[in-house]
Amino acid sequence: MSRTIRAKRLQKLAGPAAWEAILPPRTAMPPLETATRADFAIIGGGFAGLSAARRLLELAPHARIAVIDAGQIAQGSAGRNSGFMIDLPHELTSEDYAGENSSSDSELIRMNRHAIAFAAAAVDEYGIPSGYFRRDGKVNGAASTAAHDRNTAYAKHLDKLGEGNEILDAQGMKELTGSSHYRSGLFTPGTVMIQPAGYIRGLLAGLSPRIAVHENSPVTELVRLDDGWSVRTAKGRIDAGTVILANNGHLESFGFGAGRLLHIFLFATMTEELDPARIGGTGNWGVTPSDPMGTTMRRISTPQGGNRIVTRTMAKMLPEMVTTPGHMRRATAMMREKFDTRFPQLAGAAMQYAWAGHLCLSNNNVSIAGRLDDGLYAAAVCNGLGTTRSTLAGIAAAEAALGHATDVTHFFAAQAPPTKLPPAPLAKLGANIFIRWKEWRAHNE
Ligand SMILES: Cc1cc2nc3c(=O)[nH]c(=O)nc-3n(C[C@H](O)[C@H](O)[C@H](O)COP(=O)(O)OP(=O)(O)OC[C@H]3O[C@@H](n4cnc5c(N)ncnc54)[C@H](O)[C@@H]3O)c2cc1C
Repeated sequence: MSRTIRAKRLQKLAGPAAWEAILPPRTAMPPLETATRADFAIIGGGFAGLSAARRLLELAPHARIAVIDAGQIAQGSAGRNSGFMIDLPHELTSEDYAGENSSSDSELIRMNRHAIAFAAAAVDEYGIPSGYFRRDGKVNGAASTAAHDRNTAYAKHLDKLGEGNEILDAQGMKELTGSSHYRSGLFTPGTVMIQPAGYIRGLLAGLSPRIAVHENSPVTELVRLDDGWSVRTAKGRIDAGTVILANNGHLESFGFGAGRLLHIFLFATMTEELDPARIGGTGNWGVTPSDPMGTTMRRISTPQGGNRIVTRTMAKMLPEMVTTPGHMRRATAMMREKFDTRFPQLAGAAMQYAWAGHLCLSNNNVSIAGRLDDGLYAAAVCNGLGTTRSTLAGIAAAEAALGHATDVTHFFAAQAPPTKLPPAPLAKLGANIFIRWKEWRAHNE
């Protein structure tokens, strides 16, 4: 049966991918400009796509695999996040990140740790620098009494799950971060803090001797063949038996999950290189807000690309998948204020980079990871935990494509489909009013 799927739109992200920009320059892999063949073609070279490639190689070492990315790998959202590879439930729509119940949370933790162990094995095998993958844990910072109470409730939930945690007082938070902003914090040890672009580049370097990689090659069309799919770009094509769409929210640009995916754009800034003595605290830490709609802060040091602070706040639901200069201005001003409140000792520090990136969620917190059609699979919809969940989704898509039934494929296969959203204008209005209210309520968290 003939079938042609055309991409309705291509990715457009505002600002630079700072994590990539602070690394030494890298020459991009050649674009796809010829007609070739592969056993597997993976569209998208982020956490999902490169994890799918690695898992395919583990299971089918002789398979011909090609990864095709619209841009330069690690310049998409993979190089635009805050780098928290979180093992615990991280339900953004809940009050305190806890999931539905203890048994589903335990299952989620098991799956998240599976993804982290997979990433850690890649770090070892490919010799990815240890500074790009640090087992530092993270802290849920609390500035107000209400936030402290939420942290205490979440700590009790973690105790029930048998998950280690520790409450830090204001002094402990100051010693860690150099900031007097926090009243307390909830430390959990299992999060890995990555230099996201460094980690992604490391995966690429480890995989590229064994796979074909094409960068700056937006896929515009998929055409069904008798024995697979033809993946088309402006100047070339790869005919492949199996295709994996690992292109984040742009899965919907190819018609999948239409009207069911929430396209959330997040914004972040990164300072110029700072004097560590002026910052105070320790050299590496990550603070997520105890209120999921608050502000994430992160400190990095020389092995990650300099003594810098990363601030992330503000979310916009944008079904059109593109931010405006007005969004960037508002987000940048908001992040400046959040930074100044936390680090008055750094007044005047320049924000060297400001950017936006794409996060894809579903209303019922499920992913699309598995079969879409004959020979066509997806690894997408990370639900707020893209570094971990997209890694897991990539593993699942590879396993499903090879017909392997595993705990990971079962985990995704057991999920309901993403629920339908109201018509786009209504969904956008409703979601953005809700997000603004939650951000207002999160106040200085
Ligand atoms: C500011 C910010 C902070 C965040 N912080 C965190 C965090 O701390 N922890 C966390 O877990 N997650 C975080 N996230 C989310 C995380 O970055 C994403 O969820 C993650 O990048 C998703 O991985 P992915 O591989 O699914 O998609 P991506 O990383 O977006 O990779 C998809 C790739 O597909 C390519 N592509 C798209 N369309 C096409 C096409 N037509 N043809 C070819 N290629 C195409 C893109 O170029 C891209 O490289 C954050 C996101 C943002 C924006």
